[in-house]
Formats: sequence, structure tokens, C-alpha cells
Amino acid sequence: MSEQFNAAIVKYRARPIINMLEEIRLYLMRKMNYSRNQIARYRGPITPTAQSKLEIAKRDSHKWHALWVEDPELARFQVQHIYSNNHQHVVDLKMSTKKHVNPCYSKETWERIYAPYITPLRGEDQWIKSGAEPVKAPRFAKGGGRPKKKRSKANDVPQNPYKSKRKYKEIQCGRCSEKGHNVKRCNGTISNDKQRKKARTDTSPQNASALPSKTRLTGEELQCAHLSMLCLCKFKLLIFVVLVLLNFARNVTIDVSAFG
Ligand SMILES: [Zn+2]
Repeated sequence: MSEQFNAAIVKYRARPIINMLEEIRLYLMRKMNYSRNQIARYRGPITPTAQSKLEIAKRDSHKWHALWVEDPELARFQVQHIYSNNHQHVVDLKMSTKKHVNPCYSKETWERIYAPYITPLRGEDQWIKSGAEPVKAPRFAKGGGRPKKKRSKANDVPQNPYKSKRKYKEIQCGRCSEKGHNVKRCNGTISNDKQRKKARTDTSPQNASALPSKTRLTGEELQCAHLSMLCLCKFKLLIFVVLVLLNFARNVTIDVSAFG
């Protein structure tokens, strides 16, 4: 029963606590209604599971031999295993099935288990307001790694103390330098060494901005510099074009002389 319950609530466990409890309550309501319907439709004296076991036992009873003791009530038998004389029982047919079967398997017990019902509840908007200040949610800090969904089995599942386990080297975090977790699962703060190292790397762009004002240029100066660069480029281009034209003219004169 508890294992069935654990398996059924897996899909609700990841929800926020009130939603989770509400879903579990509805699940129990549905399950109890279903069981009550099953009981109403069932006609046997003992529960279906116990009855199935009894049917299997009946099928296997061909290995037993019944000997009537000729009592006037035609009820008493000595029942013996056909291959073993050590296995023999006294059977009285006047005793009903109920007397042979433990009361925990009876239909009455089954009915009593599902007799109590879960009371229905109103929605959250119809709850009585207390007027007190609402409780604020705690500050949220996102932890490392994927959120846990599995049930913790440390306490209730017994483990073999003689079984040797695989041994791994103890891991150390590259962020906070603490042992037992790595960067992915780190929730801690950065250690002093790392902080100092990070601070050193962080100051380099700050130093650049704090340069003396002489080496830094204002907007106008920058514009002038750009213009002068542009003029220089244009001048270079002009010289290049002139040189190319001169070369072309010389080639043309050579060609003309060749034809002449
Ligand atoms: Zn860490």
C-alpha cells in the first residue's frame, strides 16, 4: 500500500507545497471512491486477492486425499498428502470459510477500511481571511544542478554493510575551493584566493579608463585626426593614379614605335 502510494504521488511531489497536498488529497478521494465501488460490486466472502489464492490452492488440492470418518453429521475428514504421511490435517466442513480465513481478508474488514471519507473543501477564494499580514515568500536563490525529484532513501531502505562500494577521489569545487561538490553544484561564495585573483583581472579595464588626460583625445581632436587621415589617404590615391597613367602612356608610346 505504501509503495503504491509513493509511486502515485511522484508526479505531485515537484509542485509547490499547497498544490501538492491538494493534489494528493484529490488522488486519495478518487482512489477511495474507486475502492468503495469495487466493494459494492463484489459478492464474495473474502477479498478478491485472497479468493484468487484460494482458487490456486484448490487447483493444487489434487495431491491431497480425503478420508471420511463416518460421523453422523457427514462433516469430519482426515486429509492427507498422497506422497507424504507426515502431512495430514483434520477438516470440519461445519466450520465456514470465515473461520479458516484470517479476518483481515474478509469483505467486512475491507468495507470498514474504506468507510471513512475525505471531506470536500472550498476553494482558496472562499477561505476566511484572518486579516493578518500575509507571509512573504523566502528569498529565492537558485541552486546548482537540476532540481531533485527522487525520494531520499537514506533512512528507510536498509543497505548491506558488508558490500564494498566503489571509491572515488573526493571532488573539490573550482569556485569556492570546498570539498564535496563541484562548480555545477556550488552554492557557496568565492574563496579569498579566487576573489583576489578575480579582483586583479577586473581592475585592468578600470586602469585603462583612469589613464592621464593628456593621452586621451576629446571629440573635436578625434574629428581632426580623422579628417587628416582621410586627406592623407586621398593624396596617396591621387599619386597612385598618376603613376599608373604614366606607366600606361609609356607602354602606349612603345607600342606605337613598334608599329611604326
Ligand atoms: Zn563550491
